[in-house]
Amino acid sequence: MHLRKGNRDLIKEMNRNLVLNLIKSRGPISRTEIARLSGLSQAAVSSIVGSLIEKGLVHEMGAGESTGGRKPVLLRINDQAGFIVGVKLTEQAITSALTDLDASVVYAQTVPLQGQCDPQAVQDAIVAAVETTIAQSGVDPTRVLGIGLGMAGVVDGEVGVCRYSPFFSWWNVPIAPPIAQRLGIPVYLENDVNTLTIAEQWFGYGHGVNHFVVVTVGRGVGAGIVVNGQFYRGTIGGAGELGHIPLVEDGPPCDCGKRGCLEALASDPVVVRQARAAIARGEPTMLADMEPVTLDAVVAAAETGDELARRLLAESGRWLGIGIALLVNILNPQLVIVSGEGVRAGEWRFGPMREAIRAHAFNGLADDLNIIIEPAGDETWARGAACVVLGELFKPPVYKIT
Ligand SMILES: [Zn+2]
Repeated sequence: MHLRKGNRDLIKEMNRNLVLNLIKSRGPISRTEIARLSGLSQAAVSSIVGSLIEKGLVHEMGAGESTGGRKPVLLRINDQAGFIVGVKLTEQAITSALTDLDASVVYAQTVPLQGQCDPQAVQDAIVAAVETTIAQSGVDPTRVLGIGLGMAGVVDGEVGVCRYSPFFSWWNVPIAPPIAQRLGIPVYLENDVNTLTIAEQWFGYGHGVNHFVVVTVGRGVGAGIVVNGQFYRGTIGGAGELGHIPLVEDGPPCDCGKRGCLEALASDPVVVRQARAAIARGEPTMLADMEPVTLDAVVAAAETGDELARRLLAESGRWLGIGIALLVNILNPQLVIVSGEGVRAGEWRFGPMREAIRAHAFNGLADDLNIIIEPAGDETWARGAACVVLGELFKPPVYKIT
């Protein structure tokens, strides 16, 4: 993290976060217990807790168990002490959700973003969306502690810069700092798949699981990775670019400019494109009479028994399975959660995906592997973005100085 502040301020901030994190993770907890767990003096803990109570971040509650003498007063986080806005940005829409400190959604909305790729226009739209969300929620703007912004691509959260976005065609666009400046609220940028993974870890199937992977399928293919209970980002935040692992040398072109990536073989648009090509070739399919040809149309046709539709979904599933087998061989996770808008293709796609994982994973690694197919609404993504901010607020100090 940034080490711009003076050492004294830094240590003060570290101690404060240490106490806050202990109250969040262990609360209700007494001051004595905080002192014992943190190694801070009783006086230091009392002073920090005093200021946290004054700010309304921490509540005193009923007395706890005592080993004799006066019963200690217990402390817990006040979930309503502050609010967060989580934003999910795609090239089609901005979903924003205002949550409390427990990531419960107070108000959420989605506004369309049709074909605006200019960074300035996108920035304006995000600022407007956040302002409307706060206004509609009825929460005092001064009580919003941070904004989490999730988007596809390679993003550098440290400096708030989108290094590369295939959908917006952005290279090195600073996105978080200008929005933070305009709104006067800190903005934390994160890859959208990562936000979903953080939400899974905090509230979903990944809770309490040490090694798991979230794979998203839809417009693109992505992955979020948790190893040893820790979210894994990589050097510049690019870890988990599952969609762009090369599977076929000189294969079909990918949005990233390369060829033969998993995404170019298995994403939703690829299935649709292949269906259109087959219709153009005159292959027999009921899709020829369905206009427009969309993923939903392909799924509907598969359900009615259309051979071409079933074959295309199965092919996409098989490629996904091969990609996931690769991840399984490298990371040996306990759990794979498949999410994203492409999950609506159901078993036509995910049956073959499971088979391919079993066929290609190294002996034994897929035996106890739990695979969960989970639909994720846009609100889940936005809630995940809010969790990024919560993670920052309650970050244990050990991560602060790495
Ligand atoms: Zn690619």
